[in-house]
Amino acid sequence: MSATLTIALSKGRIFKETLPLLAHAGIVPAEDPETSRKLILATNHPDIRLVIVRAADVPTYVQYAGADLGVTGKDVLMEHGGEGLYEPLDLRIACCRLMVAGPAGQPEPAGRLRIATKYVTTTHRYYAARGRQVEIIKLYGSMELAPLVGMADRIVDVVDTGGTLRANGLEPLEHIADISSRLVVNRAAMKMKSAQVKGLIQRLEQAVASRGKV
Ligand code: AMP
Repeated sequence: MSATLTIALSKGRIFKETLPLLAHAGIVPAEDPETSRKLILATNHPDIRLVIVRAADVPTYVQYAGADLGVTGKDVLMEHGGEGLYEPLDLRIACCRLMVAGPAGQPEPAGRLRIATKYVTTTHRYYAARGRQVEIIKLYGSMELAPLVGMADRIVDVVDTGGTLRANGLEPLEHIADISSRLVVNRAAMKMKSAQVKGLIQRLEQAVASRGKV
């Protein structure tokens, strides 16, 4: 008898882009999380279920074995630190860049920069590596607003097309990291449920490879 595998996903872009990869691996959710209020979703496999959590919570659920596997952005993993997790596969979905951005066409203000971001740890690390003293203001969303209302000189955020920055008179200034979604696996589950977990990683790897060929 095989043990149950629990996969943590977040709603929205990651779910939509993971769905075809799961389908390629033969896994189809029984319900759509965008319309269902359920947090645990069954799949066509009796021994595979999905849990729907906030994107920033995916590494925590996997770390503490609330889920055996999860899909989350590299930005979230950099911020979390990746403790207790394996990161065996780049799913090459939800691609974007983590950037420093600021008001378009303006020189860098002298002195200590004020940076608004939800990526506090990553931003600290980025500026510390450059020997730059900064003040970090933690926000949970709409970072683009902070420079517009004079609350910060810069923001650190993920950028895809750059449309949101442009619409708010901001421009990308410094590239911190390329971001895509990663498969993460609980370290104990990798050992205890080795055959099932490795089989799933392999099927997802094939799904990513065949998607790349289209
Ligand atoms: P953009 O295409 O640059 O205008 O991005 C639109 C918004 O979506 C921005 O506010 C970004 O913060 C956010 N965003 C873009 N790409 C991603 C991603 N891969 N994951 C999460 N948020 C994203």
